[in-house]
Amino acid sequence: MNYPNTRLLIDGQWCDATDGKTLAVLNPASGREIGRVAHAGIADLERALAAAQRGFEQWRDTSALERSAVMRRAAALMRERAADIGALMTMEQGKPLAEAKAEATMAAEIIEWFAEEGRRVYGRVVPSRSLAVQQTVLKSPVGPVAAFTPWNFPINQVVRKLSAALATGCSMIVKAPEETPASPAALIQAFVDAGVPAGVVGLVYGNPAEISSYLIAHPVIRKITFTGSTPVGKQLAALAGTHMKRATMELGGHAPVIVAEDAQIDLAIKCAGAAKFRNAGQVCISPTRFLVHNSIRAEFAAKLAKHAQSLKVGDGLAEGTAMGPLANARRLTAMAQFVDDARAKGATVAAGGERIGSAGNFFAPTVLDEVPLEAAVFNQEPFGPLAAIRGFDRLEDAIAEANRLPYGLAGYAYTRSLKNAQLLSQRLELGMLWINQPALPWVEMPFGGIKDSGYGSEGGSEALEAYLNTKAVSILCA
Ligand code: NAD
Repeated sequence: MNYPNTRLLIDGQWCDATDGKTLAVLNPASGREIGRVAHAGIADLERALAAAQRGFEQWRDTSALERSAVMRRAAALMRERAADIGALMTMEQGKPLAEAKAEATMAAEIIEWFAEEGRRVYGRVVPSRSLAVQQTVLKSPVGPVAAFTPWNFPINQVVRKLSAALATGCSMIVKAPEETPASPAALIQAFVDAGVPAGVVGLVYGNPAEISSYLIAHPVIRKITFTGSTPVGKQLAALAGTHMKRATMELGGHAPVIVAEDAQIDLAIKCAGAAKFRNAGQVCISPTRFLVHNSIRAEFAAKLAKHAQSLKVGDGLAEGTAMGPLANARRLTAMAQFVDDARAKGATVAAGGERIGSAGNFFAPTVLDEVPLEAAVFNQEPFGPLAAIRGFDRLEDAIAEANRLPYGLAGYAYTRSLKNAQLLSQRLELGMLWINQPALPWVEMPFGGIKDSGYGSEGGSEALEAYLNTKAVSILCA
């Protein structure tokens, strides 16, 4: 399959940038250029903004039923095209083909859920203090939205935002990742083919800081939504505050995995081990800080190391690949630094710990044991195939360690005790917690973080609320 060049979508038309500028797209398995992506300038953004305003005015007045029908057609197209779209994603992002196809298929499920839920955006009637007064609460779409999405899940990060926006009657300009542009463009093509009117969805690529500062400040844009790192999220949230724009921020995490004394070790290895190395650990909810009771730590570390060593690392398109390359060379450098730092501070490398080969961004699935608290990997989000293990004696100490960092996105725990599960649910400062399970971020459940991991939700009914204004209307029936 050939990898295409990716263009901008403005006012319903695929087009090149006005000045013809493009950027290279590299395959992370080879390091070689496989295509180009159009680089939007200010003139392109202005056209996209005007189209988004027109698109909003049409879409907000389209019935929820009709919007839902269009979205369902887009979902059906995603299912039909999942295999081809998955292959594009593997070429540009690196993840194994099965993971990439699953992401495209899951997009269909997400679109369908929002298509259904969008038909149930109710207001309410509030009893008034006089028989002559009718009090109602109306919900209306917030307006044109700007979305900024990263390269780790090129489709998933767009589809949650776009589906919530479209279901509620908003238009959206998506600034998708320049490093992985073709698969999000294929998602948006499905919406175009399904009949979304011109201007309702726009797609741009370019210089992220230039585009975000222009769009966030622009009066047409009423809300922003961003997924990416905490430092960038803080900058964009500050900009949104300056311009009084509503914002959803889905930022970094450093997920604790608490393995209690009474845990089923094999279940913990199966669930957390699989979650750890999925997408080469480049996942905001990836398990990263393994806090294991000291009575079972050595056994747990040995089993996790064995699991890591059993994974076949290679080109995501090759048969049997369990883990692909890292998506870009920046992550490769970061992994080597985390391992060197942890080793120098006294950690043991139980598995992996180094780059594989010299072509492509391959890094071995890595397990670090007895990692001291001061090691960088126990403080900064690793965002790669790296599991760091520490022991604990009392569950309270594990909870305190889990809550020590400013992150508060996802967490995991393994215990047979309902009492422990209850305590962990209440005390862990997180947006999402999975106990005795792998990560299951189903669309019907809220998805988002607290503390430095951001605010707002991209799942459950909360995800629609984020795209709605609330208006209190009181009518005196004179
Ligand atoms: P980065 O912080 O430079 O960029 C992260 C994302 O934000 C990218 O998609 C980038 O295009 C975008 N971005 C950067 N500056 C921006 C700006 N001013 N306006 C709008 N968008 C902007 O780092 P990176 O090397 O691309 O990624 C590494 C780090 O990013 C990871 O360590 C991880 O913490 C974080 N990250 C998080 C997620 C997530 O799912 N929450 C996804 C990708 C990356």
